Amino acid sequence: MNRLRDAEIKFLKGIGPQRATLLQKELGISSLRDMLYHFPTHYVDRSTVYRIRDFSGQEMPMVQVKGRFVSFTEQGEGAKRRLVGLFSDGTGLMEVVWFNRTARIREAYHTQTEYVLFGKPAWFNGRWSMNHPEIDSEQSATASQGMRGVYPLTAGLRQRAITSRSFAGWARDILGSPMAARMTDTLPPSLTARLGLMPLREALRAIHFPESAAQLDRARLRLKFEELFFLQLNINRFARTRKQALKGIPMPRIADWFNAFYFRCLPFELTGAQKRVVREIHADMKSGRQMNRLLQGDVGSGKTLVALLTMLIALDNGCQAALMAPTEILATQHFETISGMVAELGINVKLLTGSTPKAQREVIHSQLADGSLHIIVGTHALLEDPVKFRNLGVAVIDEQHRFGVAQRARLWGKNAATPPHVLVMTATPIPRTLAMTVYGDLDVSVIDELPPGRKPIVTQLRYDEQRFSVYQGIGRQLRQGRQVYIVYPLIAENEKLDLRSLEEGYEQIRETFRDYKVAFVHGRMKPAEKDWQMQLFASGQARILVATTVIEVGVNVPNATTMVIENAERFGLSQLHQLRGRVGRGGDQSYCILMTKQKIAKDTRKRLELMTQTTDGFLIAEADMKMRGPGDIEGTMQSGMPLDLKLANLATDGQIVQMARDAAVAVLDADPQLTSADGRMLLAELARLAPRAADWSRIS
Ligand code: ADP
Ligand code: MG
Repeated sequence: MNRLRDAEIKFLKGIGPQRATLLQKELGISSLRDMLYHFPTHYVDRSTVYRIRDFSGQEMPMVQVKGRFVSFTEQGEGAKRRLVGLFSDGTGLMEVVWFNRTARIREAYHTQTEYVLFGKPAWFNGRWSMNHPEIDSEQSATASQGMRGVYPLTAGLRQRAITSRSFAGWARDILGSPMAARMTDTLPPSLTARLGLMPLREALRAIHFPESAAQLDRARLRLKFEELFFLQLNINRFARTRKQALKGIPMPRIADWFNAFYFRCLPFELTGAQKRVVREIHADMKSGRQMNRLLQGDVGSGKTLVALLTMLIALDNGCQAALMAPTEILATQHFETISGMVAELGINVKLLTGSTPKAQREVIHSQLADGSLHIIVGTHALLEDPVKFRNLGVAVIDEQHRFGVAQRARLWGKNAATPPHVLVMTATPIPRTLAMTVYGDLDVSVIDELPPGRKPIVTQLRYDEQRFSVYQGIGRQLRQGRQVYIVYPLIAENEKLDLRSLEEGYEQIRETFRDYKVAFVHGRMKPAEKDWQMQLFASGQARILVATTVIEVGVNVPNATTMVIENAERFGLSQLHQLRGRVGRGGDQSYCILMTKQKIAKDTRKRLELMTQTTDGFLIAEADMKMRGPGDIEGTMQSGMPLDLKLANLATDGQIVQMARDAAVAVLDADPQLTSADGRMLLAELARLAPRAADWSRIS
């Protein structure tokens, strides 16, 4: 394989320096290996020949047709000049059209000779036509069996007469070369044999020239596996190194504080999922290694309680605990919840944010330093230098995506002797396969169950024309004493326009609901103003909140039962789900109204309809990923390798992700340092794929 990596494509038949430059520019193909890894995206069965009579519908696929040219004529003038061949297969006629290289075409093809044409028929001006098809003589077409690959092309390549068939030809030439005959596999034979995977050379041949659908499937499996396996090997190697390197404070004890809270103060039974997650967390904390765990749970699944129980374990082991939230208002809410819950236990809980007065701040600093402050809840203010702990045992971070890796690292430094355990909580559901790949270095716990008795939120899709009846609905909720969110998108690229429509919306709402106070928040406000407006709403003084997505993360106002989302088509599904989670937090029936204009694309309508059909965050996240690709899902890329997957798809290849992970774990279990012959081979391949992987152990 390495020789193929070093060999340049310009020496291939039909590729000179010019085409080589073009291929590099258009598709990033420069070596023979790159060329071999430019795979067909789909296939056409060579044994299936379409009849022109059977062509139908708006979107025809690529098809093969067998027949003869009846005539060739030059038509049109100037730029529209073209060569038109009339082609008959005995069942019907179609036009075959060429716009360039017409003289050469005219020379190469003749009437009365049988050809097999391959292309995409289109219905144009009352008849079927096919532009620039690929043409085989009847004999060469029947000589090749199986399926024919269709390669991705660009307009630039088409213009220079590079076709799908060109790629097939180059792949064939490379695969037939002596260099390919000596190609070494990237995976050790012991591994491919154990898993029943095709050897590399066979897989490459089969993906370009499959003899059957079954063979193609096996080839794809092998190549997808390879992509995912090295990704998993990389992540897991990193995770292991770090786990070994980082000792944690051993916390074996579950004692007085935990038990007192659990048996005396807990106002309800934990859900099964909460219990399981607490056990997973405790297993980490007593292991002697540092916990780095991601806790995922849908909005309202009860993460705060898990955070509190985690902190109580730290207290039972003689340590302090910290809970950090991304905004002042969230930190305040957490503080109120937690201090309320543990009030009767005599635990010292305090709040530290940017607006904590100086005198109080000093008390907090000194109590943290002497250990008499047990639990500190706060914002980024916790990271500041004067904040010193006597013995910080665990740090819980809420809504992880607002905090970068660097901030996590600063928290670690808050315990000079041994870094504290870290629990990161997020309500953004991450599909499992993505979590395994992107957050591979964090262990993941999932709360996949909501507390009993929640009424599912009713979600409705409404059009601007129905605004009046939507406002009537809002009015009814307000008269029942409820509160209402009205959310607008605010996206940087047309920020001015959005700001105007937000301000107009705000005016309109104030006009319509004159009897109620309306709070107003957007991303461009000063933080203090924002907090004040939020507080107006949280306290119930304001009954309506008009806002941009700044409310996406966090606030808890159980009395808010309705959310109207304007221009809902501009939000991603996961984002809509997050927003919707702000209602439905009390015992009353809640509503989420998605507003759009009447005319929206079919896909968009489908997306929004999914929201009206389910409230399952994981299902929504999976769908979001399938529709938009994993790139849109928030989170720092931590795998250290670009997620540039050619064949594998994290949304649909979950089983192969799992298989690759299991295989990588097994390899590392048997040979942690990759020092065996097989291990060295894998390490070498890894170094080629992720040259920077070696630096990883220094990243937090
Ligand atoms: P999250 O942070 O995951 O969105 P919270 O921790 O804010 O969710 O919990 C949402 C609500 O559910 C809170 O009012 C909390 O008291 C309540 N709750 C949590 N766990 C349970 C449980 N096991 N049974 C009943 N209610 C619960
Ligand atoms: Mg929460």
